[in-house]
Amino acid sequence: MTQVATSIELSESELTFASLAATTQLTATVKDQNGATMTSATVTWATSDAAVATVSSTGLVTSVADGTATITATSGSANATAAVTMAIPAPAEEGQQGADYSTVTNMHLAVFVVDFPDTPEAVKANSFPSTNELADLMFGERMVTYLDDMSYGAFTVTGDMFGYFTHQNPGFVDGRIVELVGVASINSITVPGFDITQYDGVVLLSVHDQGLAGARAGAISFDVNGSPVPIGGLFVSFKVGSDCLCSLDPLSFSIPTGADAGIEGTSTIDFTRFQRTFAHELFHTLRPEVGLGHANSRTNGGSFDYEPEVTGNESVPGYSLLNREYGNLYDVMGKSEYGVSLNSVFRDLLGWTNQGNRYSIKSYGQHNVTIHPLNGSRGVRSIEIRIPYDYADNYDLRKNKGYFLEVRRGDDQWDNMLLHPELRGNNDGLMVLKTDGGGWPRLLDMSPSPNFPFYGQIVPDLRDVVLKPGMVYENDQIRLSHVVANGDGSFSIDVEVKR
Ligand SMILES: [Zn+2]
Repeated sequence: MTQVATSIELSESELTFASLAATTQLTATVKDQNGATMTSATVTWATSDAAVATVSSTGLVTSVADGTATITATSGSANATAAVTMAIPAPAEEGQQGADYSTVTNMHLAVFVVDFPDTPEAVKANSFPSTNELADLMFGERMVTYLDDMSYGAFTVTGDMFGYFTHQNPGFVDGRIVELVGVASINSITVPGFDITQYDGVVLLSVHDQGLAGARAGAISFDVNGSPVPIGGLFVSFKVGSDCLCSLDPLSFSIPTGADAGIEGTSTIDFTRFQRTFAHELFHTLRPEVGLGHANSRTNGGSFDYEPEVTGNESVPGYSLLNREYGNLYDVMGKSEYGVSLNSVFRDLLGWTNQGNRYSIKSYGQHNVTIHPLNGSRGVRSIEIRIPYDYADNYDLRKNKGYFLEVRRGDDQWDNMLLHPELRGNNDGLMVLKTDGGGWPRLLDMSPSPNFPFYGQIVPDLRDVVLKPGMVYENDQIRLSHVVANGDGSFSIDVEVKR
């Protein structure tokens, strides 16, 4: 008896694709008039719409564009179909909405305070802060207020203090601080009842009385009760008594101006250098999966094209540090010389922007948005601009990739250096930040002018960086124009996303 192809079964009857150029292999099972499988039957494949999905001679289906299509397998007079739906997920709705990331809400820290055998006991007794005083700096009202402002109420930090313990090695040897390289050598700390599972992170807080101080996140390695504390904690060192990154001195910012170059600014903030450094290192440890890095600043050329580097600094010592790691002088994750605020890119990464304080632009064309000061309490406080083709093509990179706009004002305590006459112009427009998808945003300079000498270094000119009324910023992706100052501290702006 001759076998006749009578029916076909396909491995799948419905295919759904969510991205371009995705493939699915279909297989066809051909059966004869008696229901027996015909292993050598010839099958041909066809698509109803090759503009939506194609199918190869072996049944491999490939998505091409949005829409629906029918794939038909034929053997003799028998056929079977599979419905194909191609739907790239629509970008999230525009307008006011939550961040793409989950919200970081609390850190509960164990703080181990350490001093060094080379510090005279009298100095320790007379000038070292108590663990209670240190706890107040790290978890007290001022830090609570700061973190509350940075997170729009989302984030708190708490902790328990342990110490003082004395390091087994001197803190200062041959002109350098040893704990920066010798953290691992402190071991055998004994704290009866200590339970690491009660904490989200660990701070090793070194207190000493001479030399430079430093801090870094991560790389902590020491034992408590014979067990190593987890890597990924926080290491902050602390210097008593004089001006350094970790001292108790109130922050007073340096103003680089023509006439006043080299003179300390008069503006101070009731926030110590130690607190700034602690906040900086703390933010590094949050959201390690995306990497909260340093804020950068970049100068735009005369054409306002985005340039990857500040030019002309190549021969300047410290160039890479200034312009790559700590270039943004307005941000606690940058050099934080003009402010200790946290920019909108970082807040978005930490999930601290939400309904009512972020406006998302994710489509081509014209948009008009009103934005209020970043550290205020009302209205839209950041505008994020996602570039649609990036957004559709790569789900992961779309997050936090594009541009953020924000307004900062010197009447806010965390940006109060902007009241200085030389920096006052930065109150009068919008800061434009560019981010390539990670935690390394760049503040673009909207009024490029030459870098200038300050404290023996050439630093980027960030005296006047914002986009002001009458100015236009344009590159191949976006055009920002029609900036209007509304008189209540807010600005309206036209945002065009180019096709
Ligand atoms: Zn850092």
